[in-house]
Amino acid sequence: MSQQQTNNNTGFQITNQNTFEDTNRSVKYLCGDCDAEVSLKRGDPIRCKECGYRVLYKQRTNRMIQFEAR
Ligand SMILES: [Zn+2]
Repeated sequence: MSQQQTNNNTGFQITNQNTFEDTNRSVKYLCGDCDAEVSLKRGDPIRCKECGYRVLYKQRTNRMIQFEAR
């Protein structure tokens, strides 16, 4: 199972593939089960640190304007 996707869509399902970007910083994912935010670095096992679920969804990481409610 080695489907190659050249387009980097958000919201795709991560299985056993190493789909991490070539960065040193951690990438944030959302757990597919408990919806917790999981930060993973390269080499980290793809697994929710809250419930142990192994399907994570990549968050949108494009720069968006954020309004802080204070
Ligand atoms: Zn979870």
